[in-house]
Amino acid sequence: MPASPKILTTLDQARIWRAEARTRGEKVVMVPTMGALHDGHLELVRTARAEGGRVIVSIFVNPTQFGPNEDFDAYPRTLAEDVQKLQGDGCCDAVFAPAPTEMYPFGTNRTWVSVDRLGDHLCGAARPGHFKGVTTVVARLFTILTPDVAVFGLKDAQQFFILKRMSQEMGFATRLVGVPTVREVDGLAMSSRNRYLNPSERAAAPVLYQSLQAAQRSILKNGERDGHQIIAQIEGLLAAEPTCRRDYVSVVDTQEMQPLVSLESGSTVLIALAAYFGPARLIDNVIVDVP
Ligand code: AMP
Repeated sequence: MPASPKILTTLDQARIWRAEARTRGEKVVMVPTMGALHDGHLELVRTARAEGGRVIVSIFVNPTQFGPNEDFDAYPRTLAEDVQKLQGDGCCDAVFAPAPTEMYPFGTNRTWVSVDRLGDHLCGAARPGHFKGVTTVVARLFTILTPDVAVFGLKDAQQFFILKRMSQEMGFATRLVGVPTVREVDGLAMSSRNRYLNPSERAAAPVLYQSLQAAQRSILKNGERDGHQIIAQIEGLLAAEPTCRRDYVSVVDTQEMQPLVSLESGSTVLIALAAYFGPARLIDNVIVDVP
C-alpha cells in the first residue's frame, strides 16, 4: 500500500499537526493549491520535498479570489483524485482541505490583507479584488500553519511577487520559493482550467507560449527594447488565432509590476498575458533578463 497523506479538514487539526512537527523539530513546507491537481502542482510538491521536513498541501477553492462573473461554481473539485495523486513515494505528509466555514468563520470577512500598487496591472486590473482574496487566504494559511517554506508556481508570476512582498511586509517567517512553469509537450502551461478547452481550442492554445517565446527572442536576439513593440508583436500573433480572445498583454518590472515603455539592460522584466479560449481564461508569462 502506498503511503497516504494525513487528511486535515479543521483549523484545530491543522494546528495540532503543525505543533507536532514543531515538537519533533521538523521543518514545515507548504504548497497552497485550489486542487484539480496536475503535474505542475506535483512539481511544486517535489520541490517542497527537496526542501526537507514535512510537506503539507492545502486544497481550497478560495471564493474571495473569484469575481462575480468568474468560474467559482464551475471550478473543478476533485479531492479524492487529488489525494490519490499525492500518495506513494515522495508524496506529501498531509493535505489540508478545509470547508469554507473554516477559512471564513463569519461568512464575510471584515479583515483583509491587501498589497498596494503591485496589483494595479495584469491580472490585478483584469480581475478586480482577485489578489486581495489571494493575499487574505494565504495570510490565513500562513498564520494557521506557520510554514518555514511555501512553494508557489511562477505560472502565476504576479501572484508570486505580490505574496512575497506581503509575507516580507507582514513579518511572516516563511520563505517563498518560486517554481518555473510546467508545460505540456507543445508548450501550453499546465492549468486546472485547460480541462475547459474543446479540441480546437486546445489545439490553438499553445499560441500563448509561442507568442511569449517570439517576444523573448526579439529581446535576446534582435535587441528589442521597446515595450509597446513587444506587446504589439504578441498581440499580432494572438490575433492571428481565431479562437483566441486576448484579455491583456503587458510588460512590467518585477519589483513594482509597473508597465515598461523601454527595457533597461541588466533589468529583469515580466512579459505576461491572459486570453480566453471559449469560456477558459488562460494565463502565461516569461521572465526575461534583459542583456
Ligand atoms: P492553483 O491551484 O491553480 O491555484 O495553483 C496552485 C499553485 O500551483 C500556484 O502556486 C500556481 O502558480 C501553481 N501552478 C499552477 N499551474 C502550474 C504550472 N503549470 N507550473 C508550475 N506551477 C503551477
